[in-house]
Amino acid sequence: MSTSGEAVRRYTVNTYCTAPFTPFGFDDLTCNWDGDVDVYADSDGTAVFTCGNGHNNETTMGDLGFGE
Ligand SMILES: [Zn+2]
Repeated sequence: MSTSGEAVRRYTVNTYCTAPFTPFGFDDLTCNWDGDVDVYADSDGTAVFTCGNGHNNETTMGDLGFGE
């Protein structure tokens, strides 16, 4: 879990979800939800957000377009 640090910051980011999505038992689909989400970023550059379908995503601020 990447939000255990003391310097967690919240951003609103337009992004998308690539979590596996298995609505009918298939295991080769991805969620592909996209929109504005609240992203919680830790001081080490990791970030987490929950997509509109409720998937917990772990990513990095770099992957979200914030870069170094
Ligand atoms: Zn999702």
